[in-house]
Amino acid sequence: MSMNATGGEGTFADLGLRAELLDVLSALGYEEPTPIQWEAIPPLVQGRDLLGQAATGTGKTAAFALPMLQRMSRPGDGAGPVTLVLVPTRELAIQVSEAFHRYGRALGARVLPIYGGAPIGRQLQALKRGVDVVVATPGRALDHIGRGTLDLEGLRTVVLDEADEMLDMGFADDIEAILAATPESRQTVLFSATLPPRIDGIARRHLNDPVRIEMGHAAAEGRQTTPLVEQSAYLVARAHKPAALGRLLDIEAPTAAIIFCRTREEVDQLTETMNGRGHRAEALHGGMEQEQRDRVMSRLRAGTADLLIATDVAARGLDVEQLTHVVNYNVPSAPEAYVHRIGRVGRAGREGVALTLVEPREHRMLKAIERVTRQRIPVERLPTVADLQARRMELTRAALEECLLQDDLEPFHAVVESLTDEFDLMEVALAAVKLAHEASGATLDEQEIPEITVRPVDKRRGQREAAPDGERSHRAPAGGMERLFFSLGRSAGIRPQDLVGAIAGESSLSGRDIGAIEIAERFSLVEVPQAAANEVIDALRRSTIKGRRPNVRRERDPRGRRQR
Ligand code: AMP
Repeated sequence: MSMNATGGEGTFADLGLRAELLDVLSALGYEEPTPIQWEAIPPLVQGRDLLGQAATGTGKTAAFALPMLQRMSRPGDGAGPVTLVLVPTRELAIQVSEAFHRYGRALGARVLPIYGGAPIGRQLQALKRGVDVVVATPGRALDHIGRGTLDLEGLRTVVLDEADEMLDMGFADDIEAILAATPESRQTVLFSATLPPRIDGIARRHLNDPVRIEMGHAAAEGRQTTPLVEQSAYLVARAHKPAALGRLLDIEAPTAAIIFCRTREEVDQLTETMNGRGHRAEALHGGMEQEQRDRVMSRLRAGTADLLIATDVAARGLDVEQLTHVVNYNVPSAPEAYVHRIGRVGRAGREGVALTLVEPREHRMLKAIERVTRQRIPVERLPTVADLQARRMELTRAALEECLLQDDLEPFHAVVESLTDEFDLMEVALAAVKLAHEASGATLDEQEIPEITVRPVDKRRGQREAAPDGERSHRAPAGGMERLFFSLGRSAGIRPQDLVGAIAGESSLSGRDIGAIEIAERFSLVEVPQAAANEVIDALRRSTIKGRRPNVRRERDPRGRRQR
């Protein structure tokens, strides 16, 4: 893989993308292609088949969406789709079609997500009006093919996105059937976070002399992480990221920190948020004039600002002595970028701290970085409100200690003495500490940030299978997992992929977070991470699976005690 994310190898314009796309990317605040985009876009524009190993967070969606849009000669004109993207879940179908829509708006590209659970009537109408791109879950795509409502005659490209996940969910046969219904001459693109033998099998059968892209090879060769940098990661849902960042900064109290974001937009937004929380934050991105950037840097060096919120491009070559902390507000798009970012601290023998916020769906990217850097990045618990209070108390104590050592307390003697007529000396001290603590701005608006756990992926492989008819397993759920009872089983036509699809579609979990599934005649049991059990129960009670509303609850043993 090229070193683009770290070395500044090229721009989107260098990739030869058309002006409408370049304008959109610039408006979105994308400063440069991610490594996977740099590698994948040229061959895809040429029409080559491609096998890409890329997890969520690498920018893989744009890596296939941009070339597809680039190749559309007359979007908005034809009847049937020219591009069909198959994805494992409805959540991803929506996400990918939104991405296509965002990038292809100026070109007038018509994009349609089709997935189970959504009313089919609207999909039929949209298909009749004509579409350029269809993003579909395999089941529903096959449904439309069977009805003759998805015309694949003019199809030029099929993209299998998150192919390993689709196989895990039992879609192998559906995928084969869909591919069989597409023109032989099509371009076939396969993206997968992992490349197990089954994926290779599909690639061998359906891809024609594909370009292969695997991640992290260049970085693995030129490994150079700084051992002095203390690294940790925190799993946090997207909605809680600003609060999580604020809390980590409160606990860590960096002299100065640089916070990396993906886009200019994100930089600007986060700068505003952090200033609103009382930090002195400055934005730094490629859209700024050199003069503005210089001003920002001198404010940081002078200590007038303590947070620098930046994109990779803007922070390239930056060397600020004051920096003690690097925060990755998202997992970077490639291991190379991670190595490069954390190199901003821990220079010249100084110690540094690198913190990474990880959304559950980015968890695999973190694993990829660990593999490439051959360092473990421990996933830590986010500080709680109690941790924060303890830390603030500690800061107050340190401030008092410093004050005691300064020996300029004489003017306050009379105050204490007059109070001791009436109060105990200890009480006077307590009141003084309370005032000092409150005056330090230790407000307590804080709410707990929900804890998220993601079980290691590999142990779970191959666990997903139905128990023999009617038989109920008494095996305890795997560690950190909770078993949920669903009132729908085989008699309702439920298959493992229906449960995985519903859970992944309705909650923040991805298919990989879900553990063993057992399907009995009249009910099913599904293991989910304990921390997410309530969320899943709430979400699934409000939705339907195969048109029926399940009763969902924690599984209990026959005496009504919760199984552990
Ligand atoms: P993906 O790996 O496709 O899920 O993309 C991860 C995130 O990165 C998405 O939020 C994209 O909008 C964003 N993204 C994709 N390409 C770029 C880029 N070149 N620069 C900045 N952000 C990007």
